[in-house]
Amino acid sequence: MPRSARRHIPAHVGGRPVKITFGAMRAMGLRGVLVYCHCGHHVALSADRWPDDVRLSDIEPRFVCGGCGSRGAEVRPDFASGRPPQFAMSKAR
Ligand SMILES: [Zn+2]
Repeated sequence: MPRSARRHIPAHVGGRPVKITFGAMRAMGLRGVLVYCHCGHHVALSADRWPDDVRLSDIEPRFVCGGCGSRGAEVRPDFASGRPPQFAMSKAR
């Protein structure tokens, strides 16, 4: 059995979730991200400004919260910005 190049992105490393890239997110049909601060402040942003090879986790340290002023946020895909497959398939075209 030949060993093909492994391009698979692990979902977890050492028990921690690994953030996907913007390219992978766009491949899922998602167009935006949600940026969360520990204080509860969050903002929705368009993902169009970031290139495909940037991970969501790469941009987290760049955010300064508009609510509490602390640096570092959690960036998650905004599933409301796209049509997840399970919903896309529930509606006949
Ligand atoms: Zn905050």
